[in-house]
Amino acid sequence: MAASSSAGCPTPAGANNDIPTYEYVDINTRPFHVGAFERLWKETLKPTYYSFRDAPQETEDEEFAQEMGVSAETIDELKVICSPDTLRCYPENEPPDKNVVPMDPGLRTLRLRKRQQDYKETLLRDFTCRQHLYATELESLAMGKRPADPEDLVPEGEFILSINVVYPVIFERFKHVRPHQTLQVLGSQKLTDLRDAICCVSDLQVSGEFSRSPDMAPEFISKDHYKSATFYLEGTFYNDMRFPECRDLSQTIMEWAKSHDFPTFQTAKMEETTFRDLKIKIGYPYLYCHQGDCEHVVIITDIRMAHRDDCLDHKLFPLLTYKHRVMTRKCAVCHLYISRWITTNDSLAPMDPCMFCELCFRMLHYDAQGNKLGDFLAFPFVDAGAFN
Ligand SMILES: [Zn+2]
Ligand SMILES: [Zn+2]
Repeated sequence: MAASSSAGCPTPAGANNDIPTYEYVDINTRPFHVGAFERLWKETLKPTYYSFRDAPQETEDEEFAQEMGVSAETIDELKVICSPDTLRCYPENEPPDKNVVPMDPGLRTLRLRKRQQDYKETLLRDFTCRQHLYATELESLAMGKRPADPEDLVPEGEFILSINVVYPVIFERFKHVRPHQTLQVLGSQKLTDLRDAICCVSDLQVSGEFSRSPDMAPEFISKDHYKSATFYLEGTFYNDMRFPECRDLSQTIMEWAKSHDFPTFQTAKMEETTFRDLKIKIGYPYLYCHQGDCEHVVIITDIRMAHRDDCLDHKLFPLLTYKHRVMTRKCAVCHLYISRWITTNDSLAPMDPCMFCELCFRMLHYDAQGNKLGDFLAFPFVDAGAFN
């Protein structure tokens, strides 16, 4: 990392280090302090610019006319021409049927919709795919959402950071899929808030063989036993030390670095650090590590002020705005439900290893009293697609 400061774009002389500039054009910025950057914006902008209150229509029109250099009459004329009323396909007194596209639509968007509708009619089987229906909805679902309790309103001028979390490198299957999740966090939130919002199957794995006591499996979820995690950002390891059993995951790396003449790293507590306290580069790959070796690349892709059309309910942050969806592995018996168990050396299974859903697994391997039938080893399985 020390070498990177000598490469890339040269720093302009006298530049303010708290204003992000590119280190590598279109790739990542130089490091800057989030809190200082936020202060600079607030000093520069008028509070009305980032206020969540709607400005009165007349003032807005006046300002717009002034900015565009046109008269008030032109604005009025434009309002009539661009009014949504001109898009009407039906007489005003007739309620429109939203599912029927008029025979000869003039609008391009309607023409596309009509084409899709006509195509769907030619299909023999019509799949209603949950994934397709909601694939693009996550982000828009929370748009403009205001909290029921005014106490939970995001403060005006709050910063929102967009963060991409990539699949862990240990998953061969998702090597070319990225990102895994995109989340929005507030500048005032702690790193632990992000850590708790990252949903990774490694946290839910259950290690061990449970053929004799399948009911015990939920008590051995990794997340409850191995609580340590760390973020690595700009030379500092931020360790999650909220629980007494947490271990400093960075310790081994620090010791290794010391014995190999690397520059020393800093450590800090994840639960005591907010995003506002951080020094970061936008677009730069950082690390999130949990469960010992489940390592995710984390990239902060954007930083901006909250707008009145954003989700403004503090409680909904970190806000999930994108999630990659994966094919699920189905049970070998019913081919319907997602697999929950893997068995090996199983005299009752058609293959080795074999996957079962909860229901089929119990019906095939245990009698009514819950006694194990036949010889087999059973391991709990968590499908990455279980969170789709
Ligand atoms: Zn993970
Ligand atoms: Zn099944």
